[in-house]
Amino acid sequence: MQPSSPAEVLRRLHDLHDHLPAGVVAHAADGRILFANRLAQELLGRTLEQLIEAGPVNEEWTFVHDDGSPLSPEELPVNIVLRTKAKLAGLVIGLKRDATSRWLLCNAYPEFDGAGTLQQVVVCFTDCTTLKTTQQSLEESEERLRLVLKGSTDAPWDWHLASSEVYYSQRWWNMLGYRGDEGYANPDGWVRLLHPGDVPMIEQYVNELLPSTRDSFSVEFRLRHRDGHYVPVLARGYVSRDATGLALRISGVNTDLTERKRTEKRIYQLAYCDHLTGLRNRRFLIEELEHVLARGQRSGRYGALLYLDLDNFKLLNDTMGHDMGDALLRQVARRLRSTVRHSDELARFGGDEFVVVLEDLHGSRQGAASEAGRIVAKILAVLDQPYQLDAFVFKSTASVGITIFDGDATSTETLLKQADLAMYNAKADGRNGACFFDPAMQDAANRRAAFEAAMVDGLSMGQFRLFCQPQFDGEGQLVGAEVLVRWQRSERDLIGPDHFIGFAEESGLIQPLGAWVLQESCRALARWREDGALGRLKLAVNVSVHQMRDPQFPLAVGEILSGTGAPPERLYLELTESVFAENVDAISERMHALRARGICFSLDDFGTDYSSLGYLMRFPLAALKIDRSFVRDVDRSPGSAPIVEAIIALGRKLDLEIVAEGVEHEAQRSFLVRGGCSLLQGYLLGRPMPLAQFEQTYRATAGHA
Ligand code: C2E
Ligand code: CA
Ligand code: CA
Repeated sequence: MQPSSPAEVLRRLHDLHDHLPAGVVAHAADGRILFANRLAQELLGRTLEQLIEAGPVNEEWTFVHDDGSPLSPEELPVNIVLRTKAKLAGLVIGLKRDATSRWLLCNAYPEFDGAGTLQQVVVCFTDCTTLKTTQQSLEESEERLRLVLKGSTDAPWDWHLASSEVYYSQRWWNMLGYRGDEGYANPDGWVRLLHPGDVPMIEQYVNELLPSTRDSFSVEFRLRHRDGHYVPVLARGYVSRDATGLALRISGVNTDLTERKRTEKRIYQLAYCDHLTGLRNRRFLIEELEHVLARGQRSGRYGALLYLDLDNFKLLNDTMGHDMGDALLRQVARRLRSTVRHSDELARFGGDEFVVVLEDLHGSRQGAASEAGRIVAKILAVLDQPYQLDAFVFKSTASVGITIFDGDATSTETLLKQADLAMYNAKADGRNGACFFDPAMQDAANRRAAFEAAMVDGLSMGQFRLFCQPQFDGEGQLVGAEVLVRWQRSERDLIGPDHFIGFAEESGLIQPLGAWVLQESCRALARWREDGALGRLKLAVNVSVHQMRDPQFPLAVGEILSGTGAPPERLYLELTESVFAENVDAISERMHALRARGICFSLDDFGTDYSSLGYLMRFPLAALKIDRSFVRDVDRSPGSAPIVEAIIALGRKLDLEIVAEGVEHEAQRSFLVRGGCSLLQGYLLGRPMPLAQFEQTYRATAGHA
């Protein structure tokens, strides 16, 4: 090979320079440009001659910092090296030219002669624009991520499986009360913080996740906070896998669920708990009952549903106030909770009603029934103990309906109905007791419902009739009548009130029925005004305690009076002693309001129930009606006569009229008249008859008038 001439070497060097993927510029010791290769000329947009002429600084381009501000001349690589006389490496500067920006990675070094004098500075630069913009957008996205995370409760982490390297963000540590890693930043760091109860679940979760093909995950667990309590967290994120599906890393965020759990709990409590007693509510029980039935089906064991209702709770509530009522309900709830097993569902159903579900009783219906019976007896005994309410000691009892069920039981709704029915039977049996549901009850309930529906129809079709039974004074003079209602269900079927008043009271139908009776009675009184005989009569109308309970009752009666034009002083309302079991103040107030309009009250069936003198004096009564049962035996049984005599004496003392009903024999009549009874009513003197017939019979005839 021929040795190359110096010119050849120089040419080759130039060639090499021109093909370098970097810009090379050589400066003289005074900063002038001596040489620039092709790439440098391209980047700067000038020929070598122009560069040598104009120098490195001019108006066509600007060198800039990261933030876009221009470099001062001292900051140019060549000037730095000229000043420091040292190598410069890795400086990145921007070059703005023709509205485009490039980023240059610069290295520069000084060249000295043998005497150590600086000869020239060589600056090399490569275009790193792509790298720089990637880095910038990375920084931007990191900043964005940082800002997003700043506002969220998500704490990022990253676990590199192959290298076992784990990264927990600051937020992650903060979530658990740590300032920094404190020795937990390794793959089992978080496992050591995991709630022991969650460990098996998490192990299983991870063991299933890693070998699977799933790339996202979401799992909840609890981590120990630095101060010892556990923080509920939700971990969500991604599994990165290689081409074969092997998991390489797991990364994600943990969300602190404390606040969410608290809200959830609150919502749950609002939806499923009774705020007064803290027990479950009706909604919860009904939903839970479905599960209980399903479990019963699997286990093949019987269960029992108890429907419990406090006796006389309304009375306490009305007389002692709602605070007392609430206090009693809370105590009852506490006693129930401590009496039944923890696993038994217990709920307040509303008002003074509670429901208990006993699960896993005996495998036979009979056995389950006796088990449930024993538990109910225990419940009743516990509830029967006196209650301390403020300064008062209060007695309260309960009535319980029980229904036994197995897995293929009917619907929850049916079960509740059955227990409810049985509870009503327990009440009817005298309260403070329990009653098992039996299908005959259902039949009876169905019949009752049909009967009530027929009554509603009867009322709208005008099937009810008023009958009147005359009342006489001791001399046999007609002084008034009692109105008695009948139901003409069909042409031949006339039903007495004893067969439907009770149902009407239970169904609430007594309100429209009673109003109708009162309306028709007042219309009769108004009609009679012009009649010489009828116009002098008083009309006694029976009023149910359910009607008296209505605060609007006095108003309704007033409207009927003014609507019909009946003389109020001729109207008597007959109440039974059961009104004494009500809120006495309210009832007495209503009676006084009516009395003020001129209406009189008589106390019906006197002597059969509460006969307290105190009560008699609190109500504005005009008459006492001796109960039929005393009248019946007055001339026969040695017990009845003194009672009747005592009632008459009492009435005289209180200045009340004494009315005797059910007078069937002359012996009874003469005894009562001798004793001083002012009014007599009974089959002996006149049977109840249709109103029209009564009017016809007793109307002043032309002769009488
Ligand atoms: P009550 O108010 O005690 O009515 C008297 C009942 O005794 C009436 O029965 C009457 O027919 C019956 N009676 C009358 N005289 C004699 C007699 O000499 N011997 C016998 N054994 N009984 C006699 P009734 O009409 O079947 O009424 C039964 C009950 O139904 C009434 O008892 C009353 O409590 C209730 N009732 C009747 N009409 C109404 C009404 O419009 N509203 C309300 N709330 N209850 C009513
Ligand atoms: Ca009566
Ligand atoms: Ca009576």
